[in-house]
Amino acid sequence: DVIRDKEIQKARLKLPILAEEQQIMEVINENPVVIIAGETGSGKTTQVPQFLYEAGYALKKQIAVTEPRRVAAVAMSRRVAEEMNLSPREVSYLIRFEGNTTDDTKIKFMTDGVLLKEVQNDFLLTKYSVVILDEAHERSVYTDILIGLLSRIVPLRHKRGDPLKLIVMSATLRIEDFTTNGRLFKKAPPVVKVDSRQFPVTVHFDKRTSDDYLKAAFEKAVKVHTKLPEGGILIFLTGQQEVNTLVKKLRKKFPLKVKIDEDIDNKPKKKKRKEVYAPEVNLDDYSVDWDNEACDQDEELSDHDDDEIDATPSVDAQPLWVLPLYSLLPTHKQNEVFKAPPGGCRLCVVSTNVAETSLTIPNIKYVVDCGRSKVKLYDKITGVTSYVVTWTSKASADQRAGRAGRTGPGHCYRLYSSAVFNDTFQNFSVPEIQQKPVDDLFLQMKCMNIDKIVNFPFPTAPDLLQLKTAEHRLEVLEALKEGKATPLGKAVAKFPVLPRFGKMLALSHQQDLLPYTICLVAALSVQEVLLERPLHDAEDKELRVKWASLRRRWAGGGNSLLLGDNMVLLRAVGAAEFANSEGRLERFCRDNGLRAKAVVEIRKLRLQLTNEIKINLPEADAVVDPRLAPPTDLQAKLLRQILLSGMGDQIARKIDDKTKFKYGYQANNMEEPVFLHSSSVLRRTLPEFVIYQEIYETNKIYMRGVTAIEPEWLPTYVPHLCNLSAPLSDPEP
Ligand code: ADP
Ligand code: MG
Repeated sequence: DVIRDKEIQKARLKLPILAEEQQIMEVINENPVVIIAGETGSGKTTQVPQFLYEAGYALKKQIAVTEPRRVAAVAMSRRVAEEMNLSPREVSYLIRFEGNTTDDTKIKFMTDGVLLKEVQNDFLLTKYSVVILDEAHERSVYTDILIGLLSRIVPLRHKRGDPLKLIVMSATLRIEDFTTNGRLFKKAPPVVKVDSRQFPVTVHFDKRTSDDYLKAAFEKAVKVHTKLPEGGILIFLTGQQEVNTLVKKLRKKFPLKVKIDEDIDNKPKKKKRKEVYAPEVNLDDYSVDWDNEACDQDEELSDHDDDEIDATPSVDAQPLWVLPLYSLLPTHKQNEVFKAPPGGCRLCVVSTNVAETSLTIPNIKYVVDCGRSKVKLYDKITGVTSYVVTWTSKASADQRAGRAGRTGPGHCYRLYSSAVFNDTFQNFSVPEIQQKPVDDLFLQMKCMNIDKIVNFPFPTAPDLLQLKTAEHRLEVLEALKEGKATPLGKAVAKFPVLPRFGKMLALSHQQDLLPYTICLVAALSVQEVLLERPLHDAEDKELRVKWASLRRRWAGGGNSLLLGDNMVLLRAVGAAEFANSEGRLERFCRDNGLRAKAVVEIRKLRLQLTNEIKINLPEADAVVDPRLAPPTDLQAKLLRQILLSGMGDQIARKIDDKTKFKYGYQANNMEEPVFLHSSSVLRRTLPEFVIYQEIYETNKIYMRGVTAIEPEWLPTYVPHLCNLSAPLSDPEP
């Protein structure tokens, strides 16, 4: 039996979900799959596992709860343990690289990625009597895949006479994706709607939308704090760096002053005033996060100029208890937000969107919403992820506003205009599975031993035709064979880029060329690194000649020249980094036709890729050297072969008819001829066979990122390459 603390029991009884315990448990007992939908803060995450425990679900097997965010897995396991008066041995968590589960664990909180790994080792998840997929509305790729898998695992367990319950918990958003999808669940699972006491929230839009939302957030917080009645403030920003900056500014503005400090050595009997701040923020608490944390990873570049904000301490205002909240904050610091602030202080939490639905902070009356969030963006050529700040969806903005109405009527201040909200915000965010490149998704699922992916019951399916094409491409790459991931495929999947680039990285690793390929993949992920013409017409001709001759020099001769456009790219980035290490990046870029912002972006991606590779492949010798020497002739030759290994489906052969098709090539997968652009250094050599990164169309169809390959390297295993070895027919002009 669970014996709870009196205070805890009192707090629990305030949650409406408690009154519905019996009904919820009846539905769960009678149905294999149940969906529980309810407002954030209604008690789903903390209470449902307890209901199940008390109904005996943990007697023989464990109760599993998945969270898309690490922060929620850790915080919720602690909270539930505390509420139930059980130890972390019994209510535990497991996130990648960290956990406290034991043989006595009864309730196990984990990230969705961790449960997915467990499916690989024990497909029927026999350790568990029930699996709760929490925060399903977030639509993380892993949770989506788990729903698909569990829709099949549940009937299999039933057949074995060892039933498993599946509970999908979600905020009240788009539940139809789970209920009306006949491929997922033949019979629509029952939906239990949890009531919540939600008080009205008045929404205030700004008249104008300022780009400097950090400053706008600061000013709004100052206004709320100095002018409005008591009640906690919750501010939504997009990332850790922003959060820390604003926390510092607000603490400076409203210090918890006048702590009387008695001097220990009792000589000067004077009492000293000392300024005391809320717990210190340590900016070093940053490390790369792995479980699916889209929103808090990339923090290096913050475009905000903090000096814009005037945080001169206010003399007469009430002190403000300012706390940061983001997923990489150490747990004990995260827990601060659940505690009451010191007497006489107002609580102010500055948070990323972890406070949107994952964590409910008590006693918030005012929400300040910047309206943006950080999202993962996949480069369509390389699959490299970057993080960009974009507008959130209407659904997210409403979730954020809702945080102000948990304990009483509240106010939400949106730092953008109603016009922006109405015209620019999408209704819902697009599920991650539809944003991720399918080649990558396909290979990753194969590595999880998921068979027939085209028939997989996705809650929201990626494009089927694209999946089929991906399967074919992966076979050509030899990452798949007979429908299974090959050892090479498994190595390729370790690299956080599209499989074709993953293969190049895997081979580079074998040849000690990783730093070059990383640099190349990063450079290929950034648009317009090398400018085609100067920005000012006046300088046009002279500079263009100079740039062209420099690029020819960068290309060099021998294998360097044959590495072609990619050699120029490597050298350009190398030279720019060198200039940067001497503090003259801007000037160098202006003089030599590079886009300085692109160089900075490439550096960021190189660091990110290098870090991610290091974590997944600790033995790899991946470092970012700002003074990376140009590749030697032999290295250049190996790089050409490595590029070919990933580009076997993007080969072109020179068209002989020079009058009709000057610089023309026949690509293996295109009907029309493609051309070498005038900016390509390979125009002078016109190699017989080339590979290209991308095709683009202006007045003609051009190849971008061209490298020459030797005829004897041509892959023979690519079936649709056969037409290349036959004499080419003259294409129509
Ligand atoms: P839901 O999952 O429906 O969003 P939760 O179960 O997370 O709701 O939260 C229920 C209540 O428990 C909220 O009012 C929240 O403030 C409170 N709560 C959650 N974690 C803690 C904690 N660590 N300390 C104090 N209160 C908490
Ligand atoms: Mg929850």
